[in-house]
Amino acid sequence: MSYLQLQGLAKRYGGFVAVDDVSLSVGRGEAVALLGPSGCGKTTTLRMLAGLIAPDGGTIRVDGADITREPAHRRNMGYVFQSYALFPHLSVARNVGFGLEERRVPRAEAAARVEEALSMVRLGALGGRRPRELSGGQQQRVALARALVVRPSVLLLDESLSNLDAKLRDAMRHEIRDIQRSLGITTLFVTHDQVEALTMCDRIAVMNRGRVEQVGSPEDIYERPATRFVADFVGRANILAASRGADGRVGLWGSPLPVQAPPSGEFDVFVRPQRIRLAAVSEPAAEGVARIQGQVSHSVFIGDRIEVVVEGAGGQLSVEMPSGQRPPAEGLEVAAIWPAEDTLLFPREAP
Ligand code: ATP
Repeated sequence: MSYLQLQGLAKRYGGFVAVDDVSLSVGRGEAVALLGPSGCGKTTTLRMLAGLIAPDGGTIRVDGADITREPAHRRNMGYVFQSYALFPHLSVARNVGFGLEERRVPRAEAAARVEEALSMVRLGALGGRRPRELSGGQQQRVALARALVVRPSVLLLDESLSNLDAKLRDAMRHEIRDIQRSLGITTLFVTHDQVEALTMCDRIAVMNRGRVEQVGSPEDIYERPATRFVADFVGRANILAASRGADGRVGLWGSPLPVQAPPSGEFDVFVRPQRIRLAAVSEPAAEGVARIQGQVSHSVFIGDRIEVVVEGAGGQLSVEMPSGQRPPAEGLEVAAIWPAEDTLLFPREAP
């Protein structure tokens, strides 16, 4: 059952189509990430939901009611801006209570709700401070409390973790996800950060050039990308040009590639670096296994893994090894091996 429903949402700026026919259903209590590169239309979509931008086409429904033309203040959506947008001259408590004042909630009730919201984000003791007296993570929590205090039907988060350092961002991801789950609040958040999308939501909608390319669980998106764009954007990927021999057999870097039902035109082969194992060239080919050969050009220690680049007849291949292993010496001729079933094929796109 969908609680929040976008149907054919569109927005143009002059002749430029920023959001193009976006449809998406979000279930009650579900968290969905809008993931995509800068400029793909994520924020525009979110702002249309919040009522901050009027769509040129399409509808927005919440719990069955069409709110497409409702003004922002009648939508009951909580919006957390990327910049937090806190009022610098107001205390933390008044920042959080702002929406309640606007809604003329009686003072005693408002005070109780502000306290509750602040303790939910673990800022119970800091209500009297000004925003500038808080760290970035604390300001982020104030913005979240401010959005939650009005008990919104939908929570909208716009790149709200991007101003935090890596460690704090990690912690906040879990914290926000826990709060979202415990409140069971329907949430849509915008991010260009795939780790954020993969860890913070039930489903991901991957956007590209104003359109939704794929909607699915994090596992779906990562393991079964539907398009070349999704494969390339989410996670690390090798995308290699396949060749086809006169006999119709598919080859990669001069080696036969055991894949079934390849597309009819030109196509590329996709495989994740961590699915590939490096072996001695003397290791024989096996059934159901893809195997190409090349020379180790370099390896880089990244901490939790080692990235090895293999160069061969068709270009470069990225291989990921667990960091405990010893990387092969540069210049060594190696076989790169992976289960053929971990290969996806995408029709070649014009650059
Ligand atoms: P980012 O992560 O960089 O914020 P985004 O995916 O959120 O990117 P949007 O902010 O939705 O992208 O913008 C989508 C496209 O629409 C961009 O190409 C942007 O330049 C364009 N755009 C956004 N707002 C306007 C505007 N007011 N006038 C003209 N073009 C706009």
